[in-house]
Amino acid sequence: MPTLRTLKALEREKLMTPDPRLAEAAEAMAIAVTPEMLDLIDRADPADPIARQFVPSAAETEILIEELSDPIGDEARSPVKGIVHRYPDRVLLKPLHVCPVYCRFCFRREKVGPGGEALSAAELAAAIAYIKARPEIWEVILTGGDPLMLAPRRLEKLIAVLDAIEHVGVIRIHSRVPIVDPSRVTDELLAALKPRRAALWFAVHCNHARELGPAARAALARLADAGVPLMGQTVLLAGVNDDVETLEALMRALVSCRVKPYYLHHPDLVRGTGHFRVSVERGQALMKVLRGRLSGLAQPTYVLDVPGGHGKVPIGPGYLGDDPDALSGQLLVEDAFGGRHRYPR
Ligand code: SF4
Repeated sequence: MPTLRTLKALEREKLMTPDPRLAEAAEAMAIAVTPEMLDLIDRADPADPIARQFVPSAAETEILIEELSDPIGDEARSPVKGIVHRYPDRVLLKPLHVCPVYCRFCFRREKVGPGGEALSAAELAAAIAYIKARPEIWEVILTGGDPLMLAPRRLEKLIAVLDAIEHVGVIRIHSRVPIVDPSRVTDELLAALKPRRAALWFAVHCNHARELGPAARAALARLADAGVPLMGQTVLLAGVNDDVETLEALMRALVSCRVKPYYLHHPDLVRGTGHFRVSVERGQALMKVLRGRLSGLAQPTYVLDVPGGHGKVPIGPGYLGDDPDALSGQLLVEDAFGGRHRYPR
């Protein structure tokens, strides 16, 4: 079964009912549902959390006033095509904008797609030259699109070029491939993920424990067995994972796959994604309950990307306050189960 790429194909698979607004939604963002994700969808459940992530919805045509075409300000922080430079010591390098699936909530939904711009050889050379010329750049994050959509030989070459830049200490890859298209995790790919000198880290994007089927688990195990350190990143999404049980199951599943939960992203102000958004208060309340249920190993940091390109900040719940008894002069610290305790400043 090939990847589903059209509204007609989704209708044939009984994943959606016709609606005139869907053509507009599909026009605004490409469709791709891989066979692995299709297999996981429960067609009897109209609120299936896997389908919700990949099947276009008429709600995508509702654009809210606060929504942005570049919600995290990539453009404002891009000195050279393909580079985003937000913090002094690290850059994003986006060699292509193609993905194995198209997530309807994507923060780069107006950039990604089969027709999305890939860097030409000259543009890639200019991006590499930018990194080379700046000794303060210690970490290069390969993102896109999905960098694992590059042929393994091209990826290997790119990693080797970055590895040859002495001040680059870390090469980080962000990808959804091991989850949504696990057969791409081949021996050839594993060989490509072995820089000689720099440390390589791998962040895998996963939003629901059900995404971790046997093939995805096997792909993650191949990466972990090859010595690739794995981190998890999750987007908090209404109707997908915005309840404690689902998040708890996901974090436990990731840890059992040797993936350390890294970030829980607050959903960005992406155009046409109001139906995925959760309030900050809701996110904090979920994190508070998770704190009492999961070990530190399974705790992600709840973060918000500040619109305008100002970077990420942790927005989890606070546990410290002032003692209402001003005479004590102490702090009041809340434990993971809601108990309050005095603590000296
Ligand atoms: S795989 Fe990542 S970049 Fe691609 S559509 Fe999904 S969230 Fe966006």
